[in-house]
Amino acid sequence: MDADVLIIGYGPTGATLAARLGQLGVKTLVIDREHEIYPLPRAAHFDHEIMRVWQRLGIADEIAPDTRPIGAYDFVNAAGQSLMRFESPIETPSAWQASFMFHQPGIEQALRRVVDKCQSVRVETGATFLDIRRNDGGGAVVSVMDGNGMREIEARYVVACDGASSPVRKALGVGQFDYGFDEPWLVVDVIVEGDDKKLPQIGMQFCVPSRPTTFMPMSPGRYRWEFMLKRGEVPADMLEDARITALLAPWRDLASFTLGRKAVYRFHGLVAQEWRKGNVLLAGDAAHQTPPFMGQGLCAGVRDAENLAWKLAEVFSGRAGDALLNTYQPEREPHVRSMIEAAIFMGRVVCVQDEAEAEKRDADMLAARKAAPGSAAIPPAPALSGGAFVASPLAGTLAAQTLRVIGGKAQRSDDVWPQGFIYAGFAAAARDAAARLPASVSIIDLDADSRGASLAAQLKAAQVEGALIRPDRYIQGTGPAANFFRRP
Ligand SMILES: Cc1cc2nc3c(=O)[nH]c(=O)nc-3n(C[C@H](O)[C@H](O)[C@H](O)COP(=O)(O)OP(=O)(O)OC[C@H]3O[C@@H](n4cnc5c(N)ncnc54)[C@H](O)[C@@H]3O)c2cc1C
Repeated sequence: MDADVLIIGYGPTGATLAARLGQLGVKTLVIDREHEIYPLPRAAHFDHEIMRVWQRLGIADEIAPDTRPIGAYDFVNAAGQSLMRFESPIETPSAWQASFMFHQPGIEQALRRVVDKCQSVRVETGATFLDIRRNDGGGAVVSVMDGNGMREIEARYVVACDGASSPVRKALGVGQFDYGFDEPWLVVDVIVEGDDKKLPQIGMQFCVPSRPTTFMPMSPGRYRWEFMLKRGEVPADMLEDARITALLAPWRDLASFTLGRKAVYRFHGLVAQEWRKGNVLLAGDAAHQTPPFMGQGLCAGVRDAENLAWKLAEVFSGRAGDALLNTYQPEREPHVRSMIEAAIFMGRVVCVQDEAEAEKRDADMLAARKAAPGSAAIPPAPALSGGAFVASPLAGTLAAQTLRVIGGKAQRSDDVWPQGFIYAGFAAAARDAAARLPASVSIIDLDADSRGASLAAQLKAAQVEGALIRPDRYIQGTGPAANFFRRP
């Protein structure tokens, strides 16, 4: 075997997975056909759960200064009236702010630096996946082309993180469910010189039928505009600087900026039908594509990576059988679908180019806002379910992380508690758990450990005495330890 896990694709999904597997000591090989990080504009937003994953990788403090919090997301019509508006919640279970705006390449570089330090992970760029030659109980063999020619790589498991066009998904013959959403947009990043205070500091969708437009602050000093293409407009023409300059003209008196990256994409909603075939698993855009209106595509890939990493490590440690990997798709797919469906709902509000249809949309949405004035909270991500979760209160939700400030420094509970499985409960439940559970599960007595204050409050509110928390910090189930492990 060349590796226990072969990751094909070194984008944010593959890099997060490689870093987590490296942390867990799994022998991993990563290949990517490109030497460099993808250069065109893509993700601009990630949420608190993703920051918490990257916190566990040790890069939160490094990346935080290059992000910016965002408090609201407003959809306005051609007359400037707000059709719907979402506010970021103040508190989250991750003890990080709800929403971060960022510059994707910076984070990808930070992830690669983590991987570089992992002794069990090797990275080969300039190596292109060609085909799967064997995929059976013994593992998988893939053929790869690199600078020295063609060769084969054998691994116990392969995780395809090879993006939207996923050659691995195609080689496996896995089809995709298509939500029938397919809209072309021009995406432009700009770099602001000097004062940017006059530019909106919230995310905005301009639901203007003559040119639906998205505006987003990104990392400090960067802003994003997205312009929907009209029927007959040609991507190559839209990418001309003169064309982009004309589109940005109405914004010029608000700030002085230079053009940065630009691209035309078709925004899709797609879900692969099988996320596991034999010993090959699909993750990130290879498994699903989300239109960007919720800023959740990359987030979904990071959640996939986090879900898979500890399961693979459990299998390699011998603590779990291969069947644990069958829980991956049942846990992740409903979550991914709910995000795609919410993004398509938002996209359908914005992507109206017919004047009469836009007039009706505006009338309906303004009436709805009049009936229920104010802003809605951005809906929290749904709980996970099925898979390995044990039906009980809070199962499938994130365990609350505690943030304390000690000597002027932030301290978060994931950083001070062990990384693996934890049973956290009030004194009697924790004592009982200590007697019952295997040594691989760390026990936290929430009556004695004030670093679990937020978790204690979460369990008290649900009236449960304890929770089994997985390495991805989801609650596997609640109740006494006997619910999870029985004495032989
Ligand atoms: C305009 C736009 C805006 C977006 N905004 C957001 C946002 O705000 N928030 C958010 O969460 N998401 C957003 N997304 C989505 C997000 O960018 C993607 O979901 C994310 O980048 C996918 O990461 P990935 O690692 O799964 O795939 P990719 O980043 O595509 O990585 C795939 C890798 O596989 C490699 N590869 C491909 N074929 C082969 C092969 N044959 N052999 C070897 N290697 C191969 C590629 O070189 C690449 O490095 C946006 C996307 C777009 C287009």
